[in-house]
Amino acid sequence: MTEKLTELFGSNVFNETVMEERLPAETFQALKETIHQGKSLDPKVAEVIAKEMKEWALERGATHYTHWFQPLTGITAEKHDSFIAPAPKGRIMLEFSSRELIKGEPDASSFPNGGLRATFEARGYTTWDCTSPAFLREDAAGVTLCIPTAFCSYTGDALDMKTPLLRSMEAVNRQALRVVHLFGHKDVTHVECSVGPEQEYFLVDQKTFKKREDLIFTGRTLFGAKPPKGQEMDDHYFGSLKERVASYMKELNQELWKLGILAKTQHNEAAPAQHELAPIYTTANMATDHNQLIMECMKKVAKRHGLECLLHEKPFAGVNGSGKHNNWSLVTDTGMNLLNPGKTPNENIQFLLFLAAVMEAVDNHADLLRISAANPGNDHRLGANEAPPAIISVFLGEQLTDVVAQLIETGEAKHLKRGGKLDTGVNTLPIFGRDGTDRNRTSPFAFTGNKFEFRMVASSMSVADANVTINTIVAETLERFADILETADDFDQAVHDLIKSSLTDHQRIIFNGNGYAQEWVEEAQRRGLPNLPSMVDAIPALTTEKAIAMFTHQGVFSAAELKSRAEIDYEIYAKAVNIEARTMIDMASTLYIPAVIRFTRELASSVNEVKTACGGIDVSVQTGLLRKTSGLLAEAQAALENLRKLDAEANALIAGDEKARFFRASVCPAMEALRKPIDELEMIVDRKLWPVPTYAEMLFEL
Ligand code: ADP
Ligand code: MG
Repeated sequence: MTEKLTELFGSNVFNETVMEERLPAETFQALKETIHQGKSLDPKVAEVIAKEMKEWALERGATHYTHWFQPLTGITAEKHDSFIAPAPKGRIMLEFSSRELIKGEPDASSFPNGGLRATFEARGYTTWDCTSPAFLREDAAGVTLCIPTAFCSYTGDALDMKTPLLRSMEAVNRQALRVVHLFGHKDVTHVECSVGPEQEYFLVDQKTFKKREDLIFTGRTLFGAKPPKGQEMDDHYFGSLKERVASYMKELNQELWKLGILAKTQHNEAAPAQHELAPIYTTANMATDHNQLIMECMKKVAKRHGLECLLHEKPFAGVNGSGKHNNWSLVTDTGMNLLNPGKTPNENIQFLLFLAAVMEAVDNHADLLRISAANPGNDHRLGANEAPPAIISVFLGEQLTDVVAQLIETGEAKHLKRGGKLDTGVNTLPIFGRDGTDRNRTSPFAFTGNKFEFRMVASSMSVADANVTINTIVAETLERFADILETADDFDQAVHDLIKSSLTDHQRIIFNGNGYAQEWVEEAQRRGLPNLPSMVDAIPALTTEKAIAMFTHQGVFSAAELKSRAEIDYEIYAKAVNIEARTMIDMASTLYIPAVIRFTRELASSVNEVKTACGGIDVSVQTGLLRKTSGLLAEAQAALENLRKLDAEANALIAGDEKARFFRASVCPAMEALRKPIDELEMIVDRKLWPVPTYAEMLFEL
């Protein structure tokens, strides 16, 4: 089995092992320098690679190739071309040159571009990203060679997730290298950001799913009364896997392993029907591509098992939603993790400097982190006592907070709080050293041992935005640090002063308490930390002068690109809420209201029939129910009319930002107002008449 697993892993990837085997030594060497040191790639080298890549793919049955890219729709896009080319006498040859490897030309105006491209100037290019390996996808379409690519407009503006991510990785590498060299590590030639995203998801039965228009169109339930049992017993989290789920996970792992994805951990999550998958971390670019593939495979494999995988942030009201924990660190090509505190963090000056850099960056640009984790679905999750609040703060834990406090006070941290030993009081159980710090689940940006864990990220979103932001804001701070330190006469004294002043200026960002508590919201306000409850509130952060100055200076986004992204965000928000509102209108008018009317008819005939059968008999139960049902029915009808009216008003607005704000301020509350009476009716109306599966059926069926 182990033998087989090692053979299976990466079997569909044109990875470095395959390339080393198949490519001439000098070609492989040149490619490695591009991948690991960021050198530019010679077109002649690309020609050799294209030929081998084609041979390798054809040997494995590939008929088509595609440039696989990540436009700003949030999902991946591809256009398939077959390898065939005409040959004399009615025959074909199989062709794939470096031109096809390096460049593709999808229509840029058909993807979100926030005004960067007009329909009449449609040209856009996909360009090969050799730092993320090509892979084979096997599905009903056969075998397809997928080439990870970046997607830009004719004018070179980024129209995708990958381009800014690669730029941000270069930015943080540039600045981190300067700092590392100042500490004497001259052998380091490259600093990479490592990312490990943990992915949460729900599984529901496909038959149930198909009966829920809301799940089909919006990914979440827009109606649904709470089931008698939710997650209060905490019996699902880490519970043993049900057979059907286990067999799903088994196949999912196999698919992911074939793609060279280090799927490592799997378990049940807090809510019923909720699960998690975590891969082992890798470089940010690959981790982002892999996360897209994980989401894609999760959905595809689910269908093969008669299941539907829900990646929405809040598929069910009243139970936990899904997120993505983005674990992030900086690692050198010599294998040094720059966020590893070592045994004595209080004496590890280099670590403390990088720690200070991250804290300063987070404090300076909390609003950008917030928008990097914003999508319409996440609005239902952040700040709802199940996920971090919409306020950004940093958790350091007891040990490091104490170190920071000493540094701020005296400029030196002389002592270190230790975790001590874990003693259970049972002789036969081993005694071991405890971590220096407990965990805090409520923190949006937590230091967890040797990495930071950004826990706000939305489950259905690409992790690119989050990492673009973290990389760039940290690059900015590291640049400031390097500028100071490179010109200092006394390096040791300068580092010492810098750590002290940075921590002092940014200590307000540290919060180790309960992030779910209302007191924190008030405390954060006193500290002047931004609280941006919804996506719409967070979008303006992208185009502040401060943000534009930083992103342009670091070479990650131009001002035009930022403006286009803000515009796309407004558009995404308005469209998502509009679809939700229309789905609600449709479900209420064609499913719920007719069902309730049927129920009132049954009640009314019951009243009449019982009275006829036996004059003077007590029918107060039926009449009471009839009155209550009819009251709620009227409330639902009024709410429905109101929602219709407001949705039409929203759609009449032209300006993207105004429209999004109107959806948020007026349409969202109107949707809530419609949901309320319908959910109440669900608890009253005869179950047999209820037109859609209930929460209990969806959450506890597997
Ligand atoms: P937990 O969230 O319970 O602490 P783990 O410690 O297993 O879980 O790590 C969660 C994720 O963090 C995994 O994907 C893991 O690979 C990743 N991770 C661990 N170390 C690093 C690192 N230095 N940089 C980035 N990600 C990391
Ligand atoms: Mg975690």
